[in-house]
Amino acid sequence: MKYYDKLIFEISRSGRVGYSLPKNWSTDNGQQSTDKPDGSLSIVNCQLSIPKVLLRETPAELPEVSELDVVRHYTNVSNKNFGVETGFYPLGSCTMKYNPKINEEIAHHPAFSGLHPLQNEESVQGALAIYYHTARALSELTGLADFTLTPFAGAHGELTGLMVMRQYHLLRGDTKRTRVIVPNSAHGTNPASAAVCGLEIVEVKSTANGTVDTNDLKGLLDDTIAGIMMTNPNTLGIYETQVVEIAQLVHDAGGLLYYDGANLNPMLGASRPGDMGFDIMHINLHKTFSTPHGGGGPGSGPVGVAAHLVDCLPNPRVTFADGKYRIENGKWKIESSHPDGNCQFGNSCGRVAAFMGNFGVVMKAYTYILSLGKDIKHVGPIATLNANYVKESLRDAYYLPVDTVCKHEFVFDGLADKSTGVTTLDIAKRLLDYGYHAPTIYFPLLFHQSIMIEPTETESKETLDDFIDIMHRVAEEALSDPEMVKSAPHTTPVRRLDETTAAKNPLLKYRDLL
Ligand SMILES: *Cc1c(COP(=O)(O)O)cnc(C)c1O
Repeated sequence: MKYYDKLIFEISRSGRVGYSLPKNWSTDNGQQSTDKPDGSLSIVNCQLSIPKVLLRETPAELPEVSELDVVRHYTNVSNKNFGVETGFYPLGSCTMKYNPKINEEIAHHPAFSGLHPLQNEESVQGALAIYYHTARALSELTGLADFTLTPFAGAHGELTGLMVMRQYHLLRGDTKRTRVIVPNSAHGTNPASAAVCGLEIVEVKSTANGTVDTNDLKGLLDDTIAGIMMTNPNTLGIYETQVVEIAQLVHDAGGLLYYDGANLNPMLGASRPGDMGFDIMHINLHKTFSTPHGGGGPGSGPVGVAAHLVDCLPNPRVTFADGKYRIENGKWKIESSHPDGNCQFGNSCGRVAAFMGNFGVVMKAYTYILSLGKDIKHVGPIATLNANYVKESLRDAYYLPVDTVCKHEFVFDGLADKSTGVTTLDIAKRLLDYGYHAPTIYFPLLFHQSIMIEPTETESKETLDDFIDIMHRVAEEALSDPEMVKSAPHTTPVRRLDETTAAKNPLLKYRDLL
């Protein structure tokens, strides 16, 4: 291990410092900080006075390193990271596409990044205009009447959308509808969000090609069903051709249709959930609309609804009238039989986020939409073309369980030739040696050896061809030298990790390592 690859605590040497300031340092206008006689610390101008009980009794155990050591350490650590800007990242169900830098530049402009959430409406008209017009653009792209941009993530959008669904039924006095149908191929967040919303989950079966089994669905529909959660294309990247019939069935039974639009990419410019019959949806701006994701945020999961549900959207809303943008709370419009009675939220399902959500992420989506302009209609078709190109080029070596034209992603069920014992995990690890991020593996759960590949529209044909070559090479290695593939990776900073121990007994304190 290189010296600078060690933990920063391991390169610490007692007494070494990055830099130091003279003892009697001054604040900007010349007043000195004081250590008060009672032991508390006061920095005069900042009016920061920390009571003694809250101060440390012993100094914090911080690494003692020179400035150069710190710079080298973090530069080396950052070079071990892998991202879309390092190489191809074909992670299925996640849309790891390239996020153009102009989006960051504009979102970071001080006119936006310097806004304070408590500024009054008059002073943030520009930001509210962006908020309002982003919602309009999302409506146009999805065929839904209106959007809230406040939810912080995809799963948060799901919860918000289900709150809208529940509110709709409650406002009509339809209190029996407490169950929601979720396909067994759904993203794990769907049943989780339904449970958090207090709804009971009913599973609908999938057909052999992963689409919703309409016969099974018919048997589940009754007056206790609040709605169904679906995604289209589904988790296998396959278009639900029966979607119009499904919408008809669910609506006839008094339920609503929820669309999980986390991966809206293949739909952009090609097809709109609103036109398919969906009533409610969320979008992950941090997948489809160009905010980098992974590592936990920040994200944004706007929720869109059809016209009859607009009043149920969460508060606050951004409205536009008489040349002014306003932040408003919804009003009671329908005579209510809601159990909460005449609450201040009106017909709204409530409030789901502080202030207006992650405005910086909205800003990036707005820039992305405007910078593509009408060319946004090519996003879905090119993502679909790229996925089918990779799928068709690799189907000689990998097993394709559902043989059909896919949308933006597709699933192999391991190698075509299973005699070598080389598994999906081994293939994923071997790809790391070639400088590729592994695809999503062992999801969806419908197959034992799932490898889910989503190339996205931002990759060149040359990159896709190189990936196809490498995937073929790994399949050949699985035949010629299976042990080598099973012991991959061989060139990464750490080799194959014990994932169980890493998950169950992680070492989170550096002291344990010293
Ligand atoms: C990513 C994803 C989600 C969840 O989004 P988060 O922002 O991670 O909460 C939900 N559904 C699908 C299909 C997804 O791919």
